[in-house]
Amino acid sequence: MIRFDILTLFPEYFNVMKLSVIGNAMEKGLISLETHDIRENSENKHKKTDDYPYGGGQGMVMTVQPVYDTYRKIKEQIGSDEKSILVYMSPKGKVMNQDIVKELACYDRITILCGHYEGMDQRVIDEIVDMELSIGDYVLTGGEIPAMVLVDSVSRLIPGVLAEEDGYVNESHYNGLLEYPQYTRPEEILGKKVPEVLLSGHHKNINRWRYFQSLMITEKNRPDMFEKIQLSDKVKKEYEKFKENEL
Ligand code: SAM
Repeated sequence: MIRFDILTLFPEYFNVMKLSVIGNAMEKGLISLETHDIRENSENKHKKTDDYPYGGGQGMVMTVQPVYDTYRKIKEQIGSDEKSILVYMSPKGKVMNQDIVKELACYDRITILCGHYEGMDQRVIDEIVDMELSIGDYVLTGGEIPAMVLVDSVSRLIPGVLAEEDGYVNESHYNGLLEYPQYTRPEEILGKKVPEVLLSGHHKNINRWRYFQSLMITEKNRPDMFEKIQLSDKVKKEYEKFKENEL
């Protein structure tokens, strides 16, 4: 069981998390997700949560008070025996990858702070944030979609969330490889046939084909990942031969 608490100016975003696999996991009590509206905690009479940046510049910056007070209320509910972490979704953070996702899946509680506008007053980040995470080298309008990416990717590692136990183990990124191509019925469509080996029922050959396909797609699309893969001389030779036949 893992619990997500989201600090956001736009709780409505998270309604989509009630759908599909993550929604089912919530219904089964495998994960829970609670949103906390930062605006409700603003002491400003107009419920303002942002202000102009000191030093000038474009846009608005989220103020400390409403974020900090929302955080304090959540903090009070976290048991001393619970392993918890607070993550700020930010384009300035470390870029998320499957290793970070695996690490996060070991927590009992993950609190996620979503920024908006030009971001957040640095003092509240310094005070409450344990980890800053980016979902990629581009800038979005708010942290809500990145927070959903985090919730989804972590939740699927929680036992029971996926239909098949350990269903994620053969997937892209889990073992530093991208996934092999997948096919389903019918055997032929659009003039294209399913690769013969997948119909053979010969599991050793199927696994070999999938492994070498994974290597091929990783080499083509992610040379940075491919570089890190250690292959013995024997496997390297076999792989080169396999590629010659496939290309
Ligand atoms: N001015 C900030 C900068 O240049 O770093 C960008 C602020 S962005 C418009 C507003 C909010 O969206 C951020 O505070 C963050 O919470 C979220 N955000 C935007 N891009 C993101 C990304 N790639 N990963 C995670 N969060 C992101």
